[in-house]
Amino acid sequence: MKKKQISEAEYSAEYMRYLGIAKTERRSYAESVRLLEEGGFRDISSFKTLKAGDKVYRGYEGRTVMACVIGRKPVAEAGLKVVGGHTDAPRLDLKPRPVYEKGGLVYFDCHIYGGIKKYQWLVRPLALYGTIVRKDGTRVDVAIGDKPSDPVFLISDILPHLGYDQAKKNRDEFFPAEDLDVIAWAGYTKPDAKKKGKDDDADDPAAAPKGDRRAFVEFLKKTYKVEEEDLMSAELEIVPAGMPREVGFDRSLIAGYGHDDRVCSFAGLKALLDAADEVPDVTASILMCDKEEIGSMGSTGMQSSFFENTVAELIDRQTKDARDIHTRRALERSSMLSADVTAAYDPHFPDVNSTGNAAYLHRGPAASKYTGGTSKSGSSDCGPEFVAEIRKIMDAEKVVWQMAELGKMEKGGGGTIAQYMSRFGMKVLDMGTPLLNMHAPCEVASKSDCYQTYRAYSAYLRS
Ligand code: MN
Ligand code: MN
Repeated sequence: MKKKQISEAEYSAEYMRYLGIAKTERRSYAESVRLLEEGGFRDISSFKTLKAGDKVYRGYEGRTVMACVIGRKPVAEAGLKVVGGHTDAPRLDLKPRPVYEKGGLVYFDCHIYGGIKKYQWLVRPLALYGTIVRKDGTRVDVAIGDKPSDPVFLISDILPHLGYDQAKKNRDEFFPAEDLDVIAWAGYTKPDAKKKGKDDDADDPAAAPKGDRRAFVEFLKKTYKVEEEDLMSAELEIVPAGMPREVGFDRSLIAGYGHDDRVCSFAGLKALLDAADEVPDVTASILMCDKEEIGSMGSTGMQSSFFENTVAELIDRQTKDARDIHTRRALERSSMLSADVTAAYDPHFPDVNSTGNAAYLHRGPAASKYTGGTSKSGSSDCGPEFVAEIRKIMDAEKVVWQMAELGKMEKGGGGTIAQYMSRFGMKVLDMGTPLLNMHAPCEVASKSDCYQTYRAYSAYLRS
């Protein structure tokens, strides 16, 4: 019996809750695995064999996860149906040696992760999330800035009264990337009267005041039991503080950090959890991967072997014959909806879209046959046969959806994981939620589009 799908209002509430928790790829991973286990999915290492109906997941380095409901047809013969999204989002990362002081303040030195407009990150409350790993392998998880009693972090900007020189510079030049550093500590210890003149310039009115770097390092030691050097082996991320909110009097939009691409990843996760109530013909699966925003690099990005290895692990548990050819065939026989967001038409910027091929809010997830630049560079360009299959599935389930491309030629462009997945011979079509101001610290999605994205992935995984 098919489970009844939840309503748009229920779905929006669940998604907003998830988005508020999943501020980083690690937190997305942890919350997704929690939801999978709650739904009866188990880690692949606990399965010796896999049979139809089994619910299994495989995670990697706490940042990338693939989950499947095993189908009646063996993976080696029928391949998989995949909904593949990513859970990393543009942000600022702390540099390996982040602590420095300047003019009386102590800062965290930051490095840009992903494509941002620098000015959007100035003068707004920011939170700090991540993990610090000590030499002995023990770790400290950090989450500061989202509880009402927490402090926040901030990048300051010059006041307009003194911003005349800045105002003459262009968007990329007026705020250097190297100045995107957050205030970490602003306390000041009164200089010791006896040591006067030795290690402070308190008596020299012309000297800039010194920040209390030492006190901050002491604070880290006391509070987190970490040495300053431990920050070299850390993954600390600066993200916008605050929870997702409804926009406008009618509350039909959701503003929040990291819709790209948690909106599609979560829709896939929910669709798979739903699909688990019946045994599919072809194995239904989802990917929630990392590092998409920096080119899908690294061991948890989709240019790695994680997906192939996971498919090989599935096949290894279905057949005694472990020849590599089974994995290759399975990959080639698979298909995927590349679950990533696209640009929604913004009435204030009508010129960047080609009329008739733009994605609009409230018209459902947008399928994109290709992404890439002006000349389709970097695009996998889906074949018309698979587009027709998807059209049939969507229309049969009365999913509200649209066909669009990401902007006009010669205006820019973008890519997804589609290109890296299609190299296995898989059929891959991009299909995801349109966003206003994608990659901004606060992105906007329509509730109905979020809901229809979930319905689209559900329809595909159940087809
Ligand atoms: Mn994306
Ligand atoms: Mn993106």
